[in-house]
Amino acid sequence: MAAGSAIQIPSRLPLLLTHEGVLLPGSTMRTSVDSPRNMQLVRSRLLKGTSLRSTIIGVIPNTSDPTSDCDDLPSLHRIGTAALAVQVVGSNWPKPHYTLLVTGLCRFQILQLLKEKPYPVAEVEQLDRLEQFTNQHKSEEELGELSEQFYKYAVQLVEMLDMSVPAVAKLRRLLDNLPREALPDILTSIIRTSNQEKLQILDAVRLEERFKMTIPLLVRQIEGLKLLQKTRKPKQDDDKRVVAIRPNRRINHIPSTTEDEEEEEDHDDVVMLEKKIRTSSMSEQALKVCLKEIKRLKKMPQSMPEYALTRNYLELMVELPWNKSTKDRLEIRAARILLDNDHYAMEKLKKRVLEYLAVRQLKNNLKGPILCFVGPPGVGKTSVGRSIAKTLGREFHRIALGGVCDQSDIRGHRRTYVGSMPGRIINGLKTVGVNNPVFLLDEVDKLGKSLQGDPAAALLEVLDPEQNHSFTDHYLNVAFDLSQVLFIATANTTATIPPALLDRMEIIQVPGYTQEEKIEIAHRHLIPKQLEQHGLTPQQIQIPQVTTLDIITRYTREAGVRSLDRKLGAICRAVAVKVAEGQHKETKPDRAEVGEGEDCKEHVTEDTKTESISDTADLALPPEMPILIDFHALKDILGPPMYEMEVSERLSQPGVAIGLAWTPLGGEIMFVEASRMDGEGQLTLTGQLGDVMKESAHLAISWLRSNAKRYQLTNASGSFDLLDNTDIHLHFPAGAVTKDGPSAGVTIVTCLASLFSGRLVCSDVAMTGEITLRGLVLPVGGIKDKVLAAHRAGLKRIIIPQRNEKDLEEIAVNVRQDLTFVLASCLDEVLNAAFDGGFAVKPRVERLNSKL
Ligand code: ADP
Repeated sequence: MAAGSAIQIPSRLPLLLTHEGVLLPGSTMRTSVDSPRNMQLVRSRLLKGTSLRSTIIGVIPNTSDPTSDCDDLPSLHRIGTAALAVQVVGSNWPKPHYTLLVTGLCRFQILQLLKEKPYPVAEVEQLDRLEQFTNQHKSEEELGELSEQFYKYAVQLVEMLDMSVPAVAKLRRLLDNLPREALPDILTSIIRTSNQEKLQILDAVRLEERFKMTIPLLVRQIEGLKLLQKTRKPKQDDDKRVVAIRPNRRINHIPSTTEDEEEEEDHDDVVMLEKKIRTSSMSEQALKVCLKEIKRLKKMPQSMPEYALTRNYLELMVELPWNKSTKDRLEIRAARILLDNDHYAMEKLKKRVLEYLAVRQLKNNLKGPILCFVGPPGVGKTSVGRSIAKTLGREFHRIALGGVCDQSDIRGHRRTYVGSMPGRIINGLKTVGVNNPVFLLDEVDKLGKSLQGDPAAALLEVLDPEQNHSFTDHYLNVAFDLSQVLFIATANTTATIPPALLDRMEIIQVPGYTQEEKIEIAHRHLIPKQLEQHGLTPQQIQIPQVTTLDIITRYTREAGVRSLDRKLGAICRAVAVKVAEGQHKETKPDRAEVGEGEDCKEHVTEDTKTESISDTADLALPPEMPILIDFHALKDILGPPMYEMEVSERLSQPGVAIGLAWTPLGGEIMFVEASRMDGEGQLTLTGQLGDVMKESAHLAISWLRSNAKRYQLTNASGSFDLLDNTDIHLHFPAGAVTKDGPSAGVTIVTCLASLFSGRLVCSDVAMTGEITLRGLVLPVGGIKDKVLAAHRAGLKRIIIPQRNEKDLEEIAVNVRQDLTFVLASCLDEVLNAAFDGGFAVKPRVERLNSKL
């Protein structure tokens, strides 16, 4: 078609009656079609038509098609928009309907309705000129000033939006390229307008009139946008985006007052935060970072996830105790008294702690080794740490490291991660609020390792006095001075502490307690504490020492006092019930006596009522105070004893011996059992043994085989070749626990010697020691814990390697007095001590036959 020539729409148009939305020329609308007439139109005209003409329909706004075919056609709006059906989508759900996409071409006026069924068709007159968009100049001349004014507003509106958004940039291009006469219709459909306003624009057939009507709409839109930008200044970018993407929804949105207030509040908060940052005593480097961040925060829209992140970060920075510390009040004499008052026994530990504190007092400098308390659970490691903080007048914070296998647990996550947070050290400092607390690093031996890095390496930096004055948490990303923090570590064993970490620490062994110590601890500390926790007084409950001893020997088997404490707690709970019941019964008669007034009478009747329902079986008199906890009461409360003295029972046949083992939970006694059967000389070992233990078993057998004649050891058929036609099975009970270490050597030898000689090992002997192939006994570790375990189990004689004699000094005198120690340097001595009446050695005849 030649440029400038007008395009004509057909003079007869099928009519689509729409109820919602007004289609204006130049814009596109999606409309749902479900009424019978409209459906017919789509089916027979749009879906069956083949020419372009057949896709042109007349859209009449503001009329809904009647729901049934036979209903009369309603009165139709006079002016409509000729439209091109661009897309038809059909669906059966929830009921049959089509969705039409139509693009408006030009206005038309209905001249005459030609038919109503199956869909209305009308003779129409085209009202707008429809031209190819090439000759703008002509239209500009015609429209003059009004058009200029309109154009100005349109440009102003578009410029208020963010040009970097593609949709806005496209709109801007449209403004420049479309003929101006098309703009009022297009802009009206884009900006926020009501259907009524759109209808008015549709009815404005004259172009001049249309311009006049659209200008106020544009102005209103611009004003709304201005207001929005003013109230949401910091979040400008964001809003522009929202407005640009959904122009007809948001542009006219005027923020409500409550939202206004909230924003102001937030703004105030940020100002406050800035003030706090400036007045806080953080390091220069930190201050610089914080000021930079707050500058960013001010510009950031609140809805951005980073806003909350940055804010949290700044709040943490303000809260951290950069320069806040407690004043040390250290006086060694007071410290000694306090430590003694809080803890019974553990003399060596207390002595070392006092030395440590004394050095602190003399030399006002915290550089020095980190103390690490190593010992079984429940021996008071944590509570000594707490006492140290108390003596120094410092805050105390415990950091549990058990199972930590990610270094960011110590050093924090970088802030780029979602959910990032500072590490435990910085978190701890925030919690205590001072920069010189006592940090107890609990269970350093249970640090794990994983793909996320080695937490032990991170701890090295924390504990190294040369480095920790500028410890940099990944989250903070600025250095924090940890040099004033007093670190104390605890562990159950040094074996699993990474060597580099171990190197930074001074190990103080905290061994388990003897029975006597436990009784003292129970009566001096644990029982009073439990009574207080349960609201009881010594007048109400009495636990004699024999009962405590019973609890210790029959209900617990531990190096520390934790389960003893728990059992005492259980007793107190049971007694509390009795006492409360007793009080209940005692108070009732009192109330009845006093109860003369109305109120009291009511109470009494209520009380008697409840009792008559619930209390028939419980008519026993209130227990007499104090309630005495004897063995029967114990059995009642704690159930039957868990550990019986079973030692002598188990040693009633040959092939059993008692060894002593060391575990991170303290010392333990261990029964080693052996049996022999017909076979081919095989050795079977059971009970989850490590390699070293298996080697010890082989060593023991080899030594016994080579010395069988000397000791008159024979197999079942009387041969000195012990493995001839014989299999041996060695078992170490408690098969679920992995056991390893060389110290069972002597026990295996004794057990096998008993098996092959048919003699019983003394039932009160326990032993420990490594053996060599030549029959020497080598020293082993953990003697103190092992001796305590043997003592706990009621054994009387302990065979230890000669070279472990020095370790006996550490053992309390009363324990030593109860026990007899046999110091053995070779297996002969072990066997002699282990069997009643010694283990006879056949004299070596060859020695007499000297050839000299
Ligand atoms: P650990 O840290 O060694 O596992 P805890 O310090 O938690 O053990 O001690 C457990 C409980 O035993 C605490 O209530 C503690 O007060 C008490 N306790 C341990 N040893 C003693 C002691 N020597 N004197 C007084 N109470 C003790």
